[in-house]
Amino acid sequence: MLSAVMEDYIKAIYTIESDSGERVSTSTLADELDVTAPTVSSTLKKLEERGLVDREEYKGVTLTEEGELVALEILRHHRLLEAFLTDQLDYDWADVHDEADRLEHHVSEELTDRIAESLGNPPVDPHGDPIPDADLSFPEESETIRLADADKGECVTVRRIRHQGNAELRYLADAGVRPGMELTVVDVAPFGMVTVETATGTQSLPEDIVQLIEVVPLAVADGVES
Ligand SMILES: [Zn+2]
Repeated sequence: MLSAVMEDYIKAIYTIESDSGERVSTSTLADELDVTAPTVSSTLKKLEERGLVDREEYKGVTLTEEGELVALEILRHHRLLEAFLTDQLDYDWADVHDEADRLEHHVSEELTDRIAESLGNPPVDPHGDPIPDADLSFPEESETIRLADADKGECVTVRRIRHQGNAELRYLADAGVRPGMELTVVDVAPFGMVTVETATGTQSLPEDIVQLIEVVPLAVADGVES
C-alpha cells in the first residue's frame, strides 16, 4: 500500500509531466505540493526504492511504467468520484475537486468499478477530463481546440475546462458554460476577451477564463451556419 502522500506525489509528477512534456524538478514539486525541497528529495527516494519513479541528478524525476499505472488509477478514482458527487449527490462542480482529493486514496478498486457502473461508465468527469477505464486506458477523444483559437461566427461544443479553480468554475457555471454545451462565438476582441452566445444569453468571457476552455467546432453541415 502506498501512503496518501506518496500517491499525491505520483499524481503531481504525472500532471506536471503531461503538461510540460518534461521531467519534473525537485523545486517544481516542492512548489506544487507546498513542502520543502529536502522533504521532496526524501519522499522521491522512497518512491524510487519502490520502482515508481526514475531520478536523475540535475535532470529531475519521471514516472516509471509502474508509476504511471499508479497515477492513472488515482486519476480514475478522482474523476469517477467527482462524477459520482455531482451526478448522485448534487454537489456543485466547483466543490467536488477537494472532496475527491481526500477520498481518492481510500476507495478500493471494487468500489471504484461499482461507482463507474452505477454511472454508466462515463468517459469524462464533470469538467470534461477523461476517465481511464478499468484497464487504465483513456477513452477515445475528439480533437479539441482552445476557445481562444475559435473564429468569429464559429459554433462549438464545450468539451473540457482545464486547470479548474473553484472561482473559475463558479464563474463558468453562472455564465452557462459547461462541457457538452454549444456556444457561438459572437466576437473576439483584442486582448483576449471573447463574447459567446449561450443557451441563456450573450456572455463576454475574460481572457483568463477563455484560456481554460477547450471546444470542438461543430460541422457546418449540421445546419448551424446562419
Ligand atoms: Zn475534474
